[in-house]
Amino acid sequence: MRFFRAVLLIAPLVVGVQVDRRGREIYDGYKVFRVVTDDGELADFEAQLESMSAIELSRNRGHIDAHHFDIAVPPESLDAFEALNLEAETLTEDLGADIALEGELQPFPGLETGVSGISAQAGAALPSFSWFSAYHPYADHLTFLRSLQAAFPSNSELITAGTSFEGRTIQGIHLWGSGGKGSKPAIYYHGNVHAREWITSMTVEYITYQLINNYSNDTAVKAVLDNYDFYILPIVNPDGFVYTQTTTRLWRKNRQTRSGTSSVGTDINRNWPYQWSGAGSSTSPGSETYRGAAPGDTPENTGIRTFGDQLGAGKGIKLYIDWHSYGQYILTPYGYSCSAKAPNQSKQDTLARNTGTAIAAVHGTRFTTGQTCSTLYATAGGSNDYFTDVTKAEIAWAIELRDTGTYGFTLPANQIIASGEESWAGQKYLWANF
Ligand SMILES: [Zn+2]
Repeated sequence: MRFFRAVLLIAPLVVGVQVDRRGREIYDGYKVFRVVTDDGELADFEAQLESMSAIELSRNRGHIDAHHFDIAVPPESLDAFEALNLEAETLTEDLGADIALEGELQPFPGLETGVSGISAQAGAALPSFSWFSAYHPYADHLTFLRSLQAAFPSNSELITAGTSFEGRTIQGIHLWGSGGKGSKPAIYYHGNVHAREWITSMTVEYITYQLINNYSNDTAVKAVLDNYDFYILPIVNPDGFVYTQTTTRLWRKNRQTRSGTSSVGTDINRNWPYQWSGAGSSTSPGSETYRGAAPGDTPENTGIRTFGDQLGAGKGIKLYIDWHSYGQYILTPYGYSCSAKAPNQSKQDTLARNTGTAIAAVHGTRFTTGQTCSTLYATAGGSNDYFTDVTKAEIAWAIELRDTGTYGFTLPANQIIASGEESWAGQKYLWANF
């Protein structure tokens, strides 16, 4: 990685960020590359990304001793990047054009009209299905949740799981079946812990919508809701999510400030107080995987962890899923170690493979399955390790949704329904077989 050092000395490029008339950063002319780097060169590589003002989008284990990084390089750094002569594949010629395909944010579209019997449980009508044709502002997600609850009034309630750094309540919905509220083991979903992964909240909301819509007309849905309580938090990082909509589309972390640094944000999914300080998280506050100054020291982690701990101590957690994008992976424990095994590891790995098959049957979308560390990368302080060993969830996964890099985080809105449909099929398989 000596080329990187050379450029670092010559040209640490600092260029004013371009913004549109609403103050949002513009990514016109950014190119996205997939770069291979050897494990031993990771630290230099990360430093170089910062010096080029490049944005790390994702990484995965492309080879035994190497990683693939997807990075977005701003136009003013393209010459410097190309001078490095790295093994790189171009994923996107113009990130700004990709973002345009996401479409404008749309308001809550109102309730379903003209469809008799669509609302199962004698509540108000469900929200219009056209919700899933666009991405939406944060406030409208809260309206959507309230409307879902109103459509299923005897079998649901709104829940909160603590408060974010900027003071937003972390909101969600609890669904139950014939056994009554809180009487069964939990299925617990987290969406959008990483702010820029917009498809995750939309997909989690799609699953929630279909649970309510099909409770009275699909015996498999009735069975899972009668046997489990669902606790669903579509957006567990509301501050980061809002920031992606107002300012920086590709923001990942929370918006926590800390004394002694001008860097903002901690990676909530490297902050869980279990195996917190190992490989796969950063001590640098400027890093996308900054783990915080102490285990569990983000308000968001405290909120969703306390909520999960209560579920674990109550009826127990049957299934935990942390929904992410992108890459199309179903990831089982563990992230902190490539050799440690969960007590029921082989059962989880088999279920993950078969869930992947059920997903692929819908639209042909292929998910890679396997243990987090050996399949994707090491992650210290991640949620599924915590839920496996501390909360004792029977199954604890991270799912990385569409796509594999063509659009990355900025998945066009016309893929929301397809992502929902295939994820729904995958979950239905899992619920019927776990
Ligand atoms: Zn993520």
